[in-house]
Amino acid sequence: MVPARSWVEISRGRLIGNFQSVRRAVGDAVEIAAVVKADAYGHGAVEVARTLEGAGARWFAVSSADEGVTLREAGIKGRILVMAGVLPAEEETLAPYRLTPVLHSVEDLVRMDRLAASSQHPLPFHLKLDTGMNRLGAAGSAGLLEALSALRAARIEGLMTHFASAADYSSLQTDHQVECFHSIVRTLESNGFRVPLRHLASSNAIAYGRKEAWHTMVRPGHALYGYLSAARGEAPAPVLEVTPVLSWKARVIQVKDIPEGSLVGYGGSYRAPRPLRIGVLAAGYADGVPHRLSNKGRVIAGRRLVPMVGTVSMDLTTVDLTKCPEVRPGDAVTLLGKEGDAQLDAQQIARLAGTISYNVLCGIRSRVRRIYLDDGQNTPLG
Ligand SMILES: *Cc1c(COP(=O)(O)O)cnc(C)c1O
Repeated sequence: MVPARSWVEISRGRLIGNFQSVRRAVGDAVEIAAVVKADAYGHGAVEVARTLEGAGARWFAVSSADEGVTLREAGIKGRILVMAGVLPAEEETLAPYRLTPVLHSVEDLVRMDRLAASSQHPLPFHLKLDTGMNRLGAAGSAGLLEALSALRAARIEGLMTHFASAADYSSLQTDHQVECFHSIVRTLESNGFRVPLRHLASSNAIAYGRKEAWHTMVRPGHALYGYLSAARGEAPAPVLEVTPVLSWKARVIQVKDIPEGSLVGYGGSYRAPRPLRIGVLAAGYADGVPHRLSNKGRVIAGRRLVPMVGTVSMDLTTVDLTKCPEVRPGDAVTLLGKEGDAQLDAQQIARLAGTISYNVLCGIRSRVRRIYLDDGQNTPLG
């Protein structure tokens, strides 16, 4: 294999450490569904699921049946929850790949029951309630009791909802969502439906200790990869300690000295204010370096933060190496990660690019090679 010119290093040790931090926070009685959708937020769903399965994870959550099939074909044994709907054309994957669908409406319940009856499998499913985010989910309890009572073959195993703003303590939206969820659960329970898995919390509702939302299962994604969103308002101290799992490197292709007044890159958007030493890096927006970082971003070269100069190109990014005379063509710089005291995480990058850390991580493209480190949890990220 040709050595990679841009790659990410994914620390299995840190991933396991973050999973264990969630485990300690929620206790042994609460199931953890590790969210590995979108190729595990760019970390590689198969390797992440394998690593976490080895660390005791029994549930994985993905967005589509397609993502679920990928995990199953890779040998993942745990339960797989398909969260973002199952289209009619995807239904036939559920039974053979043992995927557990999340249903979002009375119509879904009818459809799933018909499928379960014809497939001779019990087809356990989870039902999502829309408690106020106004995205996926059944809004209100109208018709649900009747539809659940009418099920002949499909079996309800879980009841869930999703929060719109769980890290926002300046708003009561989450409290209202919890109350709405509880009121529907009470209605169902008083009619004889005891649903064993009830889950509302993703990373933020775990991290800020919204225990009323933990019930019997939680669904962390972001936190497993080492990030907690900043809270708004008067938030309690986080109950999780997590560390970024991924660092991202690229090699320097060329180093050159340019005179004062030189224009760098497309559009000549950067003019050298004095003689500079420029480094050309082997990563661009086609690798996931946000184009919005043009003339704004930073990288770590020779243990020091240095600025991007000029626009980010498709395959290349130019940086100012004037203060790092030791950096040579072929050396690696850090686009995301740590070198000595210099640090650049996905949240810092996101702020500069005007986006969110999730977007930065999911944006790292597949041509950036994934390398998995079989390290301990406390290995410093290099
Ligand atoms: C993505 C997702 C999660 C995980 O969210 P994080 O903020 O990454 O923890 C949980 N539940 C649902 C329904 C999701 O779509």
